[in-house]
Amino acid sequence: MTDDTTYEVYAIQYAYRSERKRHETFITNAWTDPLHGTAQPISYYIWAIVNAERAIVVDTGFDAAEAARRRTQSGELWRPEMRCTPVEGLAMLGIDAAKVTDVIISHLHFDHAGTLSDFPAARFHLQEQEMQFATGPCMAHSYFNGAYTVDQVLDMVRHVYSGRVGFVSGDAEIAPGITVHCIGGHTPGVQCVRVRTRRGWLVLASDASHMYDNFEEMAPYPIVADVRTMLTGFDRLGALAESRSHIIPGHDPLVMARYPALNAACEDMVVRLDADPRE
Ligand SMILES: [Zn+2]
Repeated sequence: MTDDTTYEVYAIQYAYRSERKRHETFITNAWTDPLHGTAQPISYYIWAIVNAERAIVVDTGFDAAEAARRRTQSGELWRPEMRCTPVEGLAMLGIDAAKVTDVIISHLHFDHAGTLSDFPAARFHLQEQEMQFATGPCMAHSYFNGAYTVDQVLDMVRHVYSGRVGFVSGDAEIAPGITVHCIGGHTPGVQCVRVRTRRGWLVLASDASHMYDNFEEMAPYPIVADVRTMLTGFDRLGALAESRSHIIPGHDPLVMARYPALNAACEDMVVRLDADPRE
């Protein structure tokens, strides 16, 4: 192992939702943004970081049962289209979820931290601040707890007790060429992942920037614990990445258009992020 280890990086789009508006992605209204009521679809991703030595997974998504629960709870307003389960998406890359030893959890929102039981061999790398926030006084408010699912958080608490959570406070190396960095803003403990690839340092922003336009336009996302930290976080993503085109937002459908599919069978499900993007 040398200190110039590089990785292949893949985005797996496990779910998609077309019925969604621009004002759900940007803090905006008819007055500040005439397009606020226009469509802004959203993709749901997990990511895989792979080389000959290891396969590290970033986030674990949600399953069909969670999708059904939220669909009912929302009165059928929230209707995602499931493309595959996170486990199936990883299998397309030849990764057996049951054997994965390291999973980075960007934050504990429902669309990032479900399906933990599908990773029985994993250690979960999570920011201390995220666990504190998800189990602290802010969770008494529906504004803050709406994007968390208590049973998923309880699963992670159980993993704390069984010694399977690797807590991080700030910046940490997970493996050679793979580091995590607490960005905050969206939630206090949301972290990005910086990976050395053949095209330089790639940053998986996860929900430190949901869409390209959030960081490119310095436009905050409406689910936010601290707007000021979110804005400084956009700059931090830029400082960590080789260039702006090396930042991968957490939910943007454009990621699927800008990067090549793994193969024809995985079109619309798996794209390769260490390839040069189409502009
Ligand atoms: Zn999310």
